Amino acid sequence: MTIDLRSDTVTKPTAAMRAAMAAAEVGDDVFGDDPTVNALQSRIATMLGKEAALFVPTGTQSNLCALMAHCGRGDEYLVGQMAHTYRWEGGGAAVLGSIQPQPLPQQADGSIALAEIEAAIKPDDAHFARTRLLALENTWGGQILPQPYIEAATALARRKGLATHLDGARLFNAAVASGVPVAEIARPFDSVSVCFSKGLGAPVGSALVGSKEVIARAHRIRKMLGGGLRQAGVLAAAALHALDHHVDRLAEDHANARALAEGLAGLPGVTVAPPQTNILFVDLAPAKAAGVVDRLREAGVLCTGLYRLRFVTHLDVSAADIRRAITVLREHL
Ligand SMILES: *Cc1c(COP(=O)(O)O)cnc(C)c1O
Repeated sequence: MTIDLRSDTVTKPTAAMRAAMAAAEVGDDVFGDDPTVNALQSRIATMLGKEAALFVPTGTQSNLCALMAHCGRGDEYLVGQMAHTYRWEGGGAAVLGSIQPQPLPQQADGSIALAEIEAAIKPDDAHFARTRLLALENTWGGQILPQPYIEAATALARRKGLATHLDGARLFNAAVASGVPVAEIARPFDSVSVCFSKGLGAPVGSALVGSKEVIARAHRIRKMLGGGLRQAGVLAAAALHALDHHVDRLAEDHANARALAEGLAGLPGVTVAPPQTNILFVDLAPAKAAGVVDRLREAGVLCTGLYRLRFVTHLDVSAADIRRAITVLREHL
C-alpha cells in the first residue's frame, strides 16, 4: 500500500462524512435557499468571531474573492514572496483583479519584517499604485505565525489605512498546535479564508469570513468568478461534519509529522526542519537529491519535491504508516 504524503488534500471522505453528505437538506444556494450552506456559513462565521461567511469551491477562489473585495483595479497588495496567494494561485489577483502584487521577502518563520511592510507602502502620488491591503498566511509551510507578530503587523496596516486578509487555509492546524483559539487568530483581520479540503478532510470547499460588507462584495465577485453553486449543501454537509469530528484530531497529524522528523534524524546529508504542525520539509545534499521523488514513489512513499522534499500528514495516514514510511525513507535517503 502506497503511503501518500504529498498533501493533506488527498484524503477521501469517510463513511460517516459520506452519510452526512447523503442526508443533507439542500436548495439552490444562488437563491440563498440551501439550508446546509446557510448553516455552515453561520457556523464558521461564529467560530471565527466574524459577522458573515461565504462558502466557496476552493481556497484559491476564496483568496481571490477577498483580494478583489479589498482592492480595485490598479490597487496593490503586500504579500510574502512565498505566500500562496502570490506564488501558487496562477497570478489570479493580477490576471482577474488587475491588482498589482508587491511581494516582500519572508523571514524563516513566515513573517514579513515590519520595516519591510512599512517601507513598501507607497505614498499618495500619481506615480504609484495605491497600496490597499496586507495579506498574511497562517500556517505558512506548516509554521505558525507568532501571535504577537500578527498583532503588530495588522496594527501597522490599520495605522496606515490598509485592509488585512489572512490566508488561513490551515488555520485550524495553527490553532490546535498553538492552543490559540481560531477566533483569536482571526480577530485582527478584516477577512480570513479557511479550507475544509485540507487537514479537515472534506472533499471540496473553503470559506471566506469577514464583515457583512466585505462578504457582500465577495458574494458578487464569487458569482462573477463562476463560483455560485446550486445544491451545494451536499458539500457544506461534509464541511460541517469535518468541523464536528476532524478538528481536535489534527493533533494526531502533528504528532505523526514529529515522529517522521525524529525517525529521519541522524542521516548524513539529510536536514530535517522540526515540524510545528503537519508539514515536514527535508533538504538533501545535492548528490542525494537527484530523482529521489521518483525513487521514493517506486518504494511506496509519495511526497513532493518542487523546492524541497515535502511530507504532509493527514487523516488517511496512521502512526503505523509513518513507521513504515520511516523505514522506506531511511533506506532510500
Ligand atoms: C491549498 C492552499 C490554498 C488554496 O486552496 P485550493 O483549495 O487548493 O485552491 C490557499 N492557501 C494555502 C496556504 C494553501 O495551502
